[in-house]
Amino acid sequence: MEQDIQRTDVAIIGAGPVGLFAVFECGMLKMRCHLFDALEAPGGQCAALYPEKPIYDIPGYPRIDAAELVERLAEQAAPFEPVYHLGHPVTRLAAEGDGFVVEAASGVCVTAKAVVIAAGAGAFGPNRPPLADIESYEGRSVFYLVRRRDDFRGKRIVIAGGGDSAVDWALSLADIAGHVMVVHRRAKFRAAPESAARLERLAAAGRIELVIPYQLHALEGSAGQLSAVVVSDLSGHTRRLDADCLLPFFGLATDLGPLARWGLALDRHHIAVDPASCASSRPGIFAIGDIASYPGKLKLILSGFAEAALAAHAIHPLVHPGEALHFEYSTTKGVPGR
Ligand SMILES: Cc1cc2nc3c(=O)[nH]c(=O)nc-3n(C[C@H](O)[C@H](O)[C@H](O)COP(=O)(O)OP(=O)(O)OC[C@H]3O[C@@H](n4cnc5c(N)ncnc54)[C@H](O)[C@@H]3O)c2cc1C
Repeated sequence: MEQDIQRTDVAIIGAGPVGLFAVFECGMLKMRCHLFDALEAPGGQCAALYPEKPIYDIPGYPRIDAAELVERLAEQAAPFEPVYHLGHPVTRLAAEGDGFVVEAASGVCVTAKAVVIAAGAGAFGPNRPPLADIESYEGRSVFYLVRRRDDFRGKRIVIAGGGDSAVDWALSLADIAGHVMVVHRRAKFRAAPESAARLERLAAAGRIELVIPYQLHALEGSAGQLSAVVVSDLSGHTRRLDADCLLPFFGLATDLGPLARWGLALDRHHIAVDPASCASSRPGIFAIGDIASYPGKLKLILSGFAEAALAAHAIHPLVHPGEALHFEYSTTKGVPGR
């Protein structure tokens, strides 16, 4: 069967906040984009990991929930009619003619004059605790992220982990859950000091139970529904916690996956770029957002937005060769696609 190959100016790998804003920046310079994402919805970490959390450091928004930021970014990109390929992890990137071919595992294939990799932590997935039969509970009573806080109303929840996610969700769910238990191997939490102090205060007030020093040992339940989480201390003594759900927060596995095989210079699991243009070591391929590395890099959404603008300006001569690019403010030219 002949493969359907679509053509565009710029192929963007990753529809997180930074990939979405790259559509806008490219659009303002008359460049059309196709966006790929392994996930079924745009928004990257904002949508998948913390949609209901407020973000406080987006310029112009004193406070905005992560899901709303994603909606705003998609709205800002919409006049440029990006083509989304969601649920399509990219597995192949190869040079073709004077551009590139980008192909997803599904076979969807796009040729582009330039490629922007905005793949965050790569094709990411949660670090799973090594518990027998955990897969049969996943999505029913074991969750690696909280999509809707209200789903946990009145539930007996075991949260495992000692970092920001574990502590922040324990604090947030304590208001609505039936009972919150936090299992951690040591007394000290790696979370922001203010959050860790709040956790201690809620524990002292009896609103959260700290199960310390313990680690996950086994799950009990049937047909995907947990009835208890068994934990063990360092000398192997076990304790049974009656529970309806388990939220293990052991961070993300940052696997670059296929990206590591695309011949790009890497810097400890990130793509090394020139900070002036976000160009990677392969001409025509750019990297922005969390995946991009250069001296002084800050993994913040706002840094990724600026990188999207730099990359779009650097890509312009590849898409429109010989056409002079006069720097203009958006207030001067408006939004051309609108
Ligand atoms: C709990 C938490 C709170 C945070 N709070 C803040 C905050 O307050 N302020 C702030 O600035 N930042 C915050 N961050 C960090 C912020 O979310 C990231 O900096 C931001 O998401 C990076 O955006 P990105 O678009 O570069 O990557 P991501 O959001 O990681 O998106 C990358 C996308 O690329 C996709 N992808 C990867 N590989 C492939 C592939 N091969 N094919 C197709 N798709 C692929 C992934 O599925 C993903 O959707 C927070 C992060 C977390 C986890």
